[in-house]
Amino acid sequence: MSLKGLDKKVINKVMDDVLYVSRTLFEEGLVKCTFGVVSIRVPGEDYVVITPSGFKKEKIVKRNLLIVDLDGKVVSGGLRPSSETPMHVFIHKNIKEANCVAHTHSPMATVFAILRRDIPCVASEQAFMFGGRIPVVKKYSYPGTSNIEELESIVDALKMCKAALLPRHGVIVHGETSEEALDNAIVVEDIATSAIFSLLLGQPQEFSKEEITYLQEYKKTRYGQTKK
Ligand SMILES: [Zn+2]
Repeated sequence: MSLKGLDKKVINKVMDDVLYVSRTLFEEGLVKCTFGVVSIRVPGEDYVVITPSGFKKEKIVKRNLLIVDLDGKVVSGGLRPSSETPMHVFIHKNIKEANCVAHTHSPMATVFAILRRDIPCVASEQAFMFGGRIPVVKKYSYPGTSNIEELESIVDALKMCKAALLPRHGVIVHGETSEEALDNAIVVEDIATSAIFSLLLGQPQEFSKEEITYLQEYKKTRYGQTKK
């Protein structure tokens, strides 16, 4: 259990970010009771800060967080890490830009996960942010899986889209930054809600590839602030 070589200030900042994401997910109603997991990679290192197992996200403080290596071995912290640690470290290991990974049971998105149905791309927000459907992970058994084929299947889905559905379980998202991962988790729930209601009330039309390309281009060139 050694933290040799790790910058304390950097670790502190990563821990602040893990707490911020955890609390915001709780406030948004995307994680409840002891469910949900947040992990953030220590920049430039093969270590990840992750939330402990069985803790309410709104009550976690820094001393409850753990540092694990990319094999999931605890290098710092006295608690047991999340039971989803194998999934989280596997994602950090295999998707370079996945600096922050969050797992939720966000209710509306979980409806699609239960039915093993992709969230159809029927809202511009989804086309804009995710570039298409939110896919269901193809090979998946149960929460806490460490089965390598299933972990590879999760990574395959997350390489296609920064959010994916874990069958009969919940949602997994990632982002280059904690803000991006958080936005992805929040927006997935919003678009799942809109999709469910639009499917109940009528027959929503999915965005075509061309329309998605247009919206992605719009995002790149016309949205937000650009440096002058
Ligand atoms: Zn879960």
